[in-house]
Amino acid sequence: MSRLVPARARRWLRSHGGPLGSIVRVRTSRPEFVLTYDDGPDPVETERVLEVLRDESASATFFVLMTRAREHRSLVSEILAGGHEVALHGPDHRAISRLAYREVRDRTVSAKAELEDITGAAVRWYRPPYGLQSLTSFRAIKATGLEPVLWGPTAWDSREATTEQRVARALRGAEPGAILLSHDSYAGFADGGRSDSPPTVDRSALATRILAAYRERGLHARSLAHALTSGSPVKGIWFKR
Ligand SMILES: [Zn+2]
Repeated sequence: MSRLVPARARRWLRSHGGPLGSIVRVRTSRPEFVLTYDDGPDPVETERVLEVLRDESASATFFVLMTRAREHRSLVSEILAGGHEVALHGPDHRAISRLAYREVRDRTVSAKAELEDITGAAVRWYRPPYGLQSLTSFRAIKATGLEPVLWGPTAWDSREATTEQRVARALRGAEPGAILLSHDSYAGFADGGRSDSPPTVDRSALATRILAAYRERGLHARSLAHALTSGSPVKGIWFKR
């Protein structure tokens, strides 16, 4: 899609947060970055990550899968009670970029309603599995009232890597308002994922390391909602199939 839009128009759309833009970072004057977790909640890993966030006085946005959230409703409540934000990663981890408009819209409408029934509050954000979205799926998501949120740096924690590699990767693009992608679980076949080989990773230890590395740069972890209380969303054109 992006290749079909001339470069000058793409730049304009980016700087003006055009109608085809997904949130990719936050414009802010505060020393904050946006910490996000995907693919949970997980009864073991999420609990441990929440402990680290509490000890660090950090907040984060958790993009949950309904395959997990409906099994672990109390964990969703625990995330909220910790001052974090809950958002939608989908009814499951199927890629939506090749699905028809109506299918994306209908499955997302029901997932959003089910999640809001658990959280008791409106869900604002959606993150497409694998970061894949087409113009069709993007329009279908927007029609549900959700806003697509992608990312900048990533913690490289859905694949095999050493802790040093993961921390170094997470720091690429570490700046105020950056949205960091990380995971509090692994979405396998049971979640509709397309592979089932979870990496070896201690997610809470990695969280500790990454938060410390960002703090060294003067940056504190915040949920997207929190970061937007003083900042504004920056949108980018993000279409990948
Ligand atoms: Zn995911």
